[in-house]
Amino acid sequence: MKYINSLEFARAQDKKDPLKEFRKRFLFPQYKGKDALYFVGNSLGLQPKSVSKHIQVELDDWAKLASEGHFDGHNPWYSYHEMFTKPVAKLMGAREDEVIIMNQLTVNLHLLLISFYRPEGKRYKIVCESNAFSSDNYALQTQVQLHGYKPSDVIIEVAPRKGEHTLRTEDTLDTINKHSKEIALVIFGGVNYLTGQLLDMPRITDAAHKQGIICGFDLAHAAGNIDVKLHDWNVDFACWCTYKYFNSGPGSVAGAFIHQKHLKSPDLIRLGGWWGHDKKKRFIMDKEFAPMQTAEGWQLSNAPVFSMAAHKASVDIFTAAGGMAPLRKKSLLLTAYLEFIINGINEKIKNKHLKLEIITPTEPSERGCQLSIIAQGIGKDFYDALTKSGVFCDWRNPNVIRLAPVPLYNSFEDVWRFGQVAEKLLCK
Ligand SMILES: *Cc1c(COP(=O)(O)O)cnc(C)c1O
Repeated sequence: MKYINSLEFARAQDKKDPLKEFRKRFLFPQYKGKDALYFVGNSLGLQPKSVSKHIQVELDDWAKLASEGHFDGHNPWYSYHEMFTKPVAKLMGAREDEVIIMNQLTVNLHLLLISFYRPEGKRYKIVCESNAFSSDNYALQTQVQLHGYKPSDVIIEVAPRKGEHTLRTEDTLDTINKHSKEIALVIFGGVNYLTGQLLDMPRITDAAHKQGIICGFDLAHAAGNIDVKLHDWNVDFACWCTYKYFNSGPGSVAGAFIHQKHLKSPDLIRLGGWWGHDKKKRFIMDKEFAPMQTAEGWQLSNAPVFSMAAHKASVDIFTAAGGMAPLRKKSLLLTAYLEFIINGINEKIKNKHLKLEIITPTEPSERGCQLSIIAQGIGKDFYDALTKSGVFCDWRNPNVIRLAPVPLYNSFEDVWRFGQVAEKLLCK
């Protein structure tokens, strides 16, 4: 599409956007009496207006029914998580027995690593990205220690080449092939939190499997952003949080995926809890743990209903929007417009020391909605000035500003307005 930097053009795009009505379902933070320019849906998605109603239903059941709410509530708490099976499987490209909503992201990562990082003999190494999210690094390091190894002997990081910001698939595949017989696990962020790079998950998974290696992904920045096909890609396991693109509120409940081919493996170790135990026999209070042969078998505890109520409100919106395919379609256009606007600003900047360098791949199939920028020559001052002007974006050390126009609630006009603010700050 040919983009134009004008309010008329942006409004015309919004007018023909089939998802335009969804913006009205969200609460925006205010700036000078108007909706702020919110581009941090990659960090904390906006609150759906329907969340308070969903939570109120559970508060009322708790008040009126108390313990009876487990079985007789509007949405019985005993089986609350089952409401997610169908819609979340759809959104994650999974079979219904492969997904479960439970716990929080890093907790799920640990639970899955217990099952899927099984070092044996010479096979004990882990291949991951050099710029993984801190929590993922800590999870990997401590899992390695749990098995009695030293992280520095085990973890092999794939890094961007010198002078580059993102990973090359060929380098990842080369690393897997080079160390093939020593690797127990390949694990990456599906979309990197810092650079916004979308990895070629199917190819990485295939390369790992060809060498007999287990492959998993942290989808914190992919869930609700990318149209993932976890089952068909044959990914062994994955986990994600729901407070980013899935708009389910701060610290809300998270998700996990375990591929069908592993669900019935009797020798797959996992940590047990009563909510993973065969639900037909749960209240018999048997001594012996008999895990369910679905992703539910990884549950430990009974459902955190208030977080789940918020997640339910959001999942309903994703379903009403038609799932990930139409969202991704809009997302590609919206992010390309942001890229166009930023490139235009660079052309207008007079000070030759200033530049907004986009480090996210230019190729649309290698990114989600987020663009990561290094503001050359101005850095954090630019971020601070944006914030003061009512633009919500974020700063990640050492020097990256992240902007994520989210297809559910951001508009082309938002992107255009961001351009106006940035231009005013940089093109003096
Ligand atoms: C956001 C994020 C986390 C946060 O972990 P929590 O357990 O939800 O606090 C972890 N890993 C990645 C890759 C993330 O993007």
